[in-house]
Amino acid sequence: MTADDREIRFGEVRAAPCERRLRPDGDRRFRVAACGCPADEDLTIFVDLDALRDLESHALSDTRLELGGVMLGGQYEDDQGRPFVVIADTLRAQHHESTAGSFKFTHETWAEFTRQRAALSDDLQIVGWYHTHPNLGVFLSELDRFICEHFFGRPADVALVLDPCQGRRGFFQWTREESDQIRCTGGFYLFTSRFRERELSSFVASLDSGMMGADASGPGAAPFSKLPFPAMPAPDTGPRRFGLGFTVLGVLLAMFLLLTLLGWKMLAPEPGGPADAVAVAGDWMRQPDSWGLAGVGVLVVGTCVWTALAAWKRRRVAPAARQTGLATNPGPTPETDSRADQTAIR
Ligand SMILES: [Zn+2]
Repeated sequence: MTADDREIRFGEVRAAPCERRLRPDGDRRFRVAACGCPADEDLTIFVDLDALRDLESHALSDTRLELGGVMLGGQYEDDQGRPFVVIADTLRAQHHESTAGSFKFTHETWAEFTRQRAALSDDLQIVGWYHTHPNLGVFLSELDRFICEHFFGRPADVALVLDPCQGRRGFFQWTREESDQIRCTGGFYLFTSRFRERELSSFVASLDSGMMGADASGPGAAPFSKLPFPAMPAPDTGPRRFGLGFTVLGVLLAMFLLLTLLGWKMLAPEPGGPADAVAVAGDWMRQPDSWGLAGVGVLVVGTCVWTALAAWKRRRVAPAARQTGLATNPGPTPETDSRADQTAIR
């Protein structure tokens, strides 16, 4: 470590007990897809589809420098007592010090994180950090490991490294092994609302599974700029289109019933004998009750049309994790953790 690093003062790292929670892959409200090849011994990491998109969008925003931020969510245990992490949101570091080959959080960064988190749900805790290695590959440098050790040292804290130029990404987790305390996982899981299954499949398919995990060839990997991060597919409206079909069918049925009623009223012969249809219609139109009936019909049809239009416009649902408040683990926060107040990574 450098002389600057030795000047850093660190607070106590507090480990909060993990809350038991249903995993997204056991929750019928979600759809989950594996990215890469998560191994049984890996820490299970679930990433919200929109959170990953935001991460990758940030990574691509400037490939001349290393960029980074923190990941928000929760650390839980499933009913078998196995730990898992949910990443539901991210915060971008705005005041970082970065070059083409290094990234540092600063005091201002943590102050900004504190301010931003105050505006978010208390359910979202910092569960790890991410940063980019533009065209350098996926690995942890000595400084990266230093950050992991001193700022993200809880057993289920994770680090994500993205190389936006080579289209690679990899999660790093803590292990209990003396020789390899931090290692890259084989993959992770993406999850989203069950209504966005096709969108999820399309996104995962665009991630080349061969590009997951740590970079075996290290920083000297060949440029691969022709393989950018996955293009953002159009939102999947399949299930909602199904619902829209029912709505349109309902509108047509309501109109059919209304017209049938009007026709019956106008054309049905009077009990006294056959009558001229125009005269019957005229008589019917002059009755106050008929106008009321027609008004109700118009109201019904209008409501149905409005519902159909609203369903058509509502093409996207809110991020899955925010719908359910998946992250409620009260872990250390920048506000309460003295690390945040006392330190800055230099
Ligand atoms: Zn790095």
